[in-house]
Amino acid sequence: MEYNYVKLLDRAWEHLPEGLKSHDRFSIPQANTFIEGNQTIIKNFSEIADLLGRDPKHVFTFLLKELAAPGTLDGSRVVIQRALRKHVIDQKIEAYAVEYVLCQECKKPDTKFTELEGQRIIKCAACGGWRPLRKIK
Ligand SMILES: [Zn+2]
Repeated sequence: MEYNYVKLLDRAWEHLPEGLKSHDRFSIPQANTFIEGNQTIIKNFSEIADLLGRDPKHVFTFLLKELAAPGTLDGSRVVIQRALRKHVIDQKIEAYAVEYVLCQECKKPDTKFTELEGQRIIKCAACGGWRPLRKIK
């Protein structure tokens, strides 16, 4: 069990973009969670959103869609109506960072949401690269 978990982590790591592994300034924040009954509480949610430099509501919406579970944003915490292991939530935070924080060109996190000719885009301040901002479905 333990062995498989480590292997899974290794595999996830291998699939990370190169820039992400070597980046010395930014590391993807990890969830501080605990399970209470059949709920999962993410204690450091506002801190995670802060570190990602994104609106907590946006991160929250993404998380719930990805986890396919209802939940509430409660001050600095999030309560999800499902018992979930920490690594499941960490994987979703990582997916969020890849999609909505890291530049696809230079892999730096110096991006922001903006508009170009009426289209919502994510733009990188480091290299000028941009891509259309994907809507959370
Ligand atoms: Zn860039």
